[in-house]
Amino acid sequence: MAAVTECLFCRIVAGEIPAEVVRAGDRVIAFRDVNPQAPTHVLVVSREHHDNVAALALADPEALAEMVTVGADLAKAEAEGDFRLVFNTGAEAGQSVFHVHGHVLAGRDFGWPPG
Ligand code: 5GP
Ligand code: ZN
Repeated sequence: MAAVTECLFCRIVAGEIPAEVVRAGDRVIAFRDVNPQAPTHVLVVSREHHDNVAALALADPEALAEMVTVGADLAKAEAEGDFRLVFNTGAEAGQSVFHVHGHVLAGRDFGWPPG
């Protein structure tokens, strides 16, 4: 799927907008969230544009698996290994950028249920 020119995360993938990239894989890249909610807060995004995680799971399940692997690897490298992986899906669930991204959160305790 071609990059969506007005999509913020397509533009970060293309290098048009700067980001602190911490992992670059075949199908995904990971960069630090600009407004971190934990000591480690990294966004793992597909290189190709998909609107959300459900669309990604249908189109490219290997990319979804790579996202989980990258998240686990980051949590081991930067924290104790435990992590939360959040895919806000749809505006009512808190999604504000409509290019699939997993929030990898680690380095502190997390409450449940989420807000
Ligand atoms: P969502 O609300 O869609 O689940 O998550 C979007 C995330 O993208 C937010 O946590 C927000 O802080 C982050 N974000 C928004 N704009 C930028 C940006 O330009 N650069 C980076 N690194 N993160 C961004
Ligand atoms: Zn995009």
